[in-house]
Amino acid sequence: MEDRLENLKWTLQYWKDREVEEQKRMDLNGSKEFTGEMIRIRWNIKEAQKMLDAYSTKRVANKVFLIDIDGTICDDIKNENSYLYPHAKVIPGALEMINKWYYEGNTITFFTAREEKDRGVTAEWLNMHGFKYHKLVMDKPRIEDGQEYVWIDNRKVRAVTYLGTWGELKEVDAKIQTFG
Ligand SMILES: [Mg+2]
Repeated sequence: MEDRLENLKWTLQYWKDREVEEQKRMDLNGSKEFTGEMIRIRWNIKEAQKMLDAYSTKRVANKVFLIDIDGTICDDIKNENSYLYPHAKVIPGALEMINKWYYEGNTITFFTAREEKDRGVTAEWLNMHGFKYHKLVMDKPRIEDGQEYVWIDNRKVRAVTYLGTWGELKEVDAKIQTFG
């Protein structure tokens, strides 16, 4: 992956250097018209830039988010109090961050232990508050205080525990569990 990025950057720089050289040559010869060579160089710069942009966008938008609802994007409402769902308050920052990820091209899935019977009220609430998303998955297994989710998958999984503040994801040093 990184090799490809380096390659694209190198290619762009190569043509930019060629542009500088060609400009010097044109100045030296006093030519006011673009030379054929200059047109070719400029075309290559544009193409290299396009490929680099496309690659960078793909790298940013490569995530399939699974996002909890209660206690993560809004008040923590227990299934037993489902009558409160329509009145849940959005946690500050959640809407902005999730919609930003959506518009960057990532896939947004809400994954909640709310029951299937509450799909309608949940979807309505999400829409009313302006959440952009692709999928709503209900009936996630419930856990008690002191328990934790452990997800085992042959595809790459990143786990992020919401600790009360929304913002950009950043890398930290942390212990993980794996098969030993
Ligand atoms: Mg929750």
